[in-house]
Order: sequence, then C-alpha cells, then structure tokens
Amino acid sequence: MNPPLSLQDRMKEVNNRIEAACARSGRNRNEVHIIAVTKYVSVEATQEVLDQGLFHIGENRAQNALPKIEALGDTAIWHYIGHLQSNKVKDVVGKFSYIHSVDRLSLAKEINKKAEALGEQVNVFVQVNVSGEASKQGVEPSEAKSLLAEINKLAHLKVIGLMTMAPIVDKPEQARPVFRGLRVLRDELNAEHVTDEPITELSMGMSDDFEIAIEEGATWVRLGTILVGKGETM
Ligand SMILES: *Cc1c(COP(=O)(O)O)cnc(C)c1O
Repeated sequence: MNPPLSLQDRMKEVNNRIEAACARSGRNRNEVHIIAVTKYVSVEATQEVLDQGLFHIGENRAQNALPKIEALGDTAIWHYIGHLQSNKVKDVVGKFSYIHSVDRLSLAKEINKKAEALGEQVNVFVQVNVSGEASKQGVEPSEAKSLLAEINKLAHLKVIGLMTMAPIVDKPEQARPVFRGLRVLRDELNAEHVTDEPITELSMGMSDDFEIAIEEGATWVRLGTILVGKGETM
C-alpha cells in the first residue's frame, strides 16, 4: 500500500522532520544525507525519485537492483545496504559506489579483489551489531577495531564509516542507545587512529527511527517506506 501523499509531499514532510531533528540536536542539516531505499518499488518509481532530485539510491539485493541499475545507470549513486554474500560480490562491485554491510574480513577481501580487477575504489561502511541481537548481522563492537585495522590495509576499499540496524522496538526512543553506541564507537576508533583517515560517517536510522538516529549523529539515513512507499512487490 502506498502512503496517500505524493512523493513530493512525502519528501517535504521528511525534510521538515530532518530539519527539526537537526535543530533539536544543534546539527547542521548539510551533514545528513538521505538514501532513498527503493527495494520495494519498480524501476519507474525509482525514476520518479531521481526526478525529485534524490540521487542516493539504496537496494538490499543484487538481483532486484540490477534491472534498475541497467535502466537508470549513472543517473543515480547506488548504495548496497543488504547482507552481502561473498559469491554475490561480483554483482555488486563496479555497480554500487557504497557498500554499507561489510561485517567480516573475508568479505572485505573479496570486495577488494573485484575492485582491484576493475581498477576501482569502493566506499564501505563496517556494519556493527550494536544491539547484540542474535538475528542481526554485523561485527561485534569489541571486534570492530581489529576488523577496521585490517580493512584499512586494503587498497581498493575506503572505509568511511559505520552502519547499524536498530532493533524493532515499540517506541523509536528505545533505539537511541543503539544509535548512541555506534557514534561512541566511531569516536573511540578515531581517537585510537585505527584508520589512516578518521571515519566520519554513520549510516543509521530508517523510516521508524530516523529522527532519533539524527539526534545521535547519523550522517546517512536509509528511508524506504516513509519516502518511497512500499509498492506492490517486495
Ligand atoms: C529496507 C531497509 C531500509 C529501509 O527500511 P524502511 O523501514 O522501509 O525505511 C533501511 N536499511 C536497510 C538495511 C534495509 O534493508
């Protein structure tokens, strides 16, 4: 079911809420980027998002994303946000500029190998399981430092930040400790100079909790349902 408002109206509403969250937390609106998550919708609906001037597009499965990338190509900047299996890396590298779900060294090395073959560099986020739920992907916070240190050595990966998924909770406020935990971890890693350059980015916050994530320092929010709608297919 699509939300009743037009895409333009939904964008306006989301922008207002982002601005308010920035104002509440004393942040600059320019630090917060929107990734429109189009995994629920068609190529045509994704084109509409681009027509509205949103160019960062998120997809969580290679097979669903490839027809869109084929049709829309370089008009968008593609973000891979889903769990990534090593045997799917070949479908992702060269097409997606950002990968948000690097959570193990074997995966990072596979991405590096494919990127090297193409002469490219991929921007990556290390996904961290801050909430500690068994069902969540991501490296344990205590192991993030050693993983980042290893990824830092891979020439074709540029680690730019951390990503997390909040648990499903009744009230978005309950997700705050998870978002705060990711920010604190980022600041600790930077204080310890784990990477050559400080990592600046935090990919956190979705339709239900993006305002809390922004208050806690998100620089990329990943918005599907609230912005693009759910579409008919999943
Ligand atoms: C689907 C998805 C989103 C967007 O979810 P909504 O709740 O629809 O905004 C964000 N991040 C990831 C990793 C996703 O898989």
